Order: sequence, then C-alpha cells, then structure tokens
Amino acid sequence: MTGNELSLVAQAHANGHLSGDGPHTRLCHQWLEDNTGAAKAFLTQSCTAALEMAAILADIEPGDEVIMPSFTFVSTANAFVLRGAVPVFVDVREDTLNIDERLIEAAITSKSKAICVVHYAGVSCEMDPILEIASRYNLLVIEDAAQAIMSTYKGRPLGTLGDLGTLSFHETKNIICGEGGALLCREDRLVERAEIIREKGTNRSLFFRDQVDKYTWVDVGSSFLPSEITAAFLLAQMGEAEAITQRRLSIWARYHDWAEAHERVGRLRRPIVPEHCQHNAHMYYLLLPSLEQRARFIDAMKKAGVGVVFHYVPLHSSPAGLSFGRACGELTVTANIADRLVRLPLWLGLEMQLEDVFLAADNALDVSGTLE
Ligand SMILES: *Cc1c(COP(=O)(O)O)cnc(C)c1O
Repeated sequence: MTGNELSLVAQAHANGHLSGDGPHTRLCHQWLEDNTGAAKAFLTQSCTAALEMAAILADIEPGDEVIMPSFTFVSTANAFVLRGAVPVFVDVREDTLNIDERLIEAAITSKSKAICVVHYAGVSCEMDPILEIASRYNLLVIEDAAQAIMSTYKGRPLGTLGDLGTLSFHETKNIICGEGGALLCREDRLVERAEIIREKGTNRSLFFRDQVDKYTWVDVGSSFLPSEITAAFLLAQMGEAEAITQRRLSIWARYHDWAEAHERVGRLRRPIVPEHCQHNAHMYYLLLPSLEQRARFIDAMKKAGVGVVFHYVPLHSSPAGLSFGRACGELTVTANIADRLVRLPLWLGLEMQLEDVFLAADNALDVSGTLE
C-alpha cells in the first residue's frame, strides 16, 4: 500500500454505493483514459475478465484462429478458447521475449481472426510491423498489456495501440487492488457493445443515462465489473502510479548494474529493452545458462531466504495447449528461455534489502556455475 488506500475504501463504504460503477470507478475510468489516451476504459474484475470481454467483442466463433505467443500466462489463450477459438502459438524474439513479429505472417490462415500480443515484463512488442500485418490481413489486434501499465512504444501508451487492450491490477502487478483489471478501447467503435457485455448483456448503462426507456437483455454478456471497494483501493494506487513506477525503475536499474559483471563472464544474460520502448520495471529476470543451473540457483536463493520463481511453462506444450491449440513452427526460443528464466523479487519494500539480495545472488551464482 502507498498511503491512501484504506481512507478511500472507507469513503466508498460511507458513500453507501458498494456495487460497481459508482464514483470511484468513474474516477478510475477517467484516470485510465487521461493516462493512456484510450477512447474508453472499463474496469473489470481481472485482466482475465477483460480478455474474455475482448474475445466476445472480437466476434470470435468456433474454429476461428487467434495468433499469440506461447510464452505467456494461460489467460491470454483461455479467453479465446472459451469462445471456441484455436490459439495458434508463435515463437518469441530472443531479445525481448515478445512475440516474433517476423513469424506472424506465416501463421495466418483463412481462419485467422485476431492477433493477441503480450508485452512481456512491460516491454513493448514491435507494434508498428504487427499493426501493419494486421491491417493488411484485416485482423483485430488485442494487446494483453497485463504487465504494461505506464509503458510506452515510441511514446505511445501500451494497451491503446491495438483495437483493444487489457490491463491487470492483480497484486503481483505494478498498480494493484488485489484482483482487478481493465479493458481499453482505442476507438469509439466497440464502446457501446463493450458496455453491454460488461453489464450482463443488458443496456443498463444506457438506461441510467436516459438513452433508452427500458432496461433489458440485448446481447451476450456477463458480470465483469468490480465493486466500488476495489475501485477505491485502485484509485489510491493510481494517484501514486508515477511514484511507484519511478521507484520500481530505480530498483530495476540497481539490479541491472549488479548483474552486469555476471553477464560479462557468461554466468547469465540480462533483460534487453530496445531504445524505443519505455518500460515500467514490472519485472527483473535473469536468463541462466541451463535448466540445471537455474534449479541450483533457485535452491541456493531459497536457502538464503530469498524467494525467486520461474515461469512460464510454454502453452503450446502444456496439456490444454496441446488439445486446444496449434504451434506454428518449432518455437525453439520459447522452449529454450522457459528453461532458463528466473525472476528476482521486485516490490517497493525491497529497496532497503536489495544489497542482501545481491549478496545472496552472488553466492547462488557461484553455486550454480558458469558457462565456461
Ligand atoms: C497477470 C497476467 C494476466 C492475468 O491477469 P489477472 O488480472 O490476474 O487476470 C494475463 N496475462 C498476462 C500476460 C499476465 O501477466
């Protein structure tokens, strides 16, 4: 927490409006629109929920294909699989670990409907070529920007470059409210339908604005909106978003300086952030030389009292991915980095203990061995 969360939650309670779309939710929507330039933002209960809304808005039908990376969280794929789509998994770039835009065109078939990109670690995908391919093949672009609030690509905020973008406010992300997310609509085109889908398929919001005289069932939908308690907590975090991002960037930079000497002697590879991508320090990860060395590193860190974790099990080789999806090509980079990546702790309270983490990691890297 950054200070104001509990007082805004108390205010939401005192307002007597605990369900969704009250004054705190409206202020969160305003903040998101002001800070991203989206035509419209909608708070949701999670990024997963926002992705499910995006899949409905994309008119995904059974058998449609959605192109996406395999190196991502399950929700990227699940949201489309729930509509009957086939996720088509494409390999990632070696530098940013984002979908390799040079491999997208080969994955396109007559059934392709959308490209769902993921901005891994808050570092942007190569959006210009991706948007160019999408427009040439008439595909929708959905950005899973779960990790990417406050990040930009060539100065443009992530989540607003594609037709739809989704954010996460899960407690493991940068700006948090426990469980929460948002859907961003770049243009007005999809806004009215998004509002209906989010309100259980009813025109309730239009009714409350006196734009229709009956409130009724008009489309498919679900209950995607969070309560005002959640929105109040989130609003306090949004007020500190700039400061949170700066503090995270400073921790990230200290990790990056520390890891340089290890990289020079071949013990690890550090994250690579292209010049034109401003990231948000969502994550600091290391790529160790092998699966065995990663296991030894994690074990040694655990013994030193520092919890470090790895992810993701590639979706294309997971049980559900094999049954619902299809891999396009060999995905050799994905398989390789999934074995070697380890995440170091990164949260605001870490600032005081960072030297201890470096010391533990220096020792753990000796234990896990070097490339030479
Ligand atoms: C965290 C995350 C999600 C899911 O976010 P929730 O808000 O927990 O649903 C989806 N995609 C990516 C890439 C994520 O990192």
